[in-house]
Amino acid sequence: MSDNVTIAISKGRIFTEALPLLAGLNIRPEQDPDVTRKLILTTNQPDVKLIVVRATDVPTYVEYGAADMGIAGKDVLMEYTGNGVYEPLDLQIARCKMVLAAPKNSKEINGRLRVATKYVITTRNYFADQGRQVEIIKLYGSMELAPVLGLADQIVDLMDTGNTLRANGLVPIATIAEISSRIIVNKASMKMKHELIKPMLKKLAAVVNKT
Ligand code: AMP
Repeated sequence: MSDNVTIAISKGRIFTEALPLLAGLNIRPEQDPDVTRKLILTTNQPDVKLIVVRATDVPTYVEYGAADMGIAGKDVLMEYTGNGVYEPLDLQIARCKMVLAAPKNSKEINGRLRVATKYVITTRNYFADQGRQVEIIKLYGSMELAPVLGLADQIVDLMDTGNTLRANGLVPIATIAEISSRIIVNKASMKMKHELIKPMLKKLAAVVNKT
């Protein structure tokens, strides 16, 4: 049995909010991902490493076992179409909502709605559940621009304070999902590294419940 654990994580809000939880496991990264160019961070625990990857790549690294565990937003997991990872724990960090948003004071659209988003699968499922056919336009960022420039009628995006929507004349009209970050675990690692991973999950759950 390999006696080390690799955790995939993305930079930014998830990394920052995960730090206190990792500290609760006495895991402290020895480099700051905003300063170093290294993508593999060592920690004070010789058997624990963090790998810094794009948020949307976290499930891929974990599914293929390149990382044993990962921390990924529910938004990313809902869009992930891989063969599966375990999702044993909601860390309740990086919380926000995935919302459908429309221009303020816009009229009801009776014809085929055009929705711009990077969350194509989740958006399709949401409207399919309502029995509503929509045209989905895939974008990779700055979704808020789409209704302003007439590219789409509405957007699906993440909302935290609502400032970004407001600044672009948009208002949320429906909540599609409550989002937070989850621990995910490679299926083989869960079996092979059971003795390392199980206690980590147990302790993490206790730390999460305390915060
Ligand atoms: P806000 O203006 O506070 O509503 O934040 C909205 C912007 O921040 C959107 O462009 C989102 O893509 C991004 N955002 C907010 N919360 C999160 C989160 N938990 N994870 C990733 N992106 C987020």
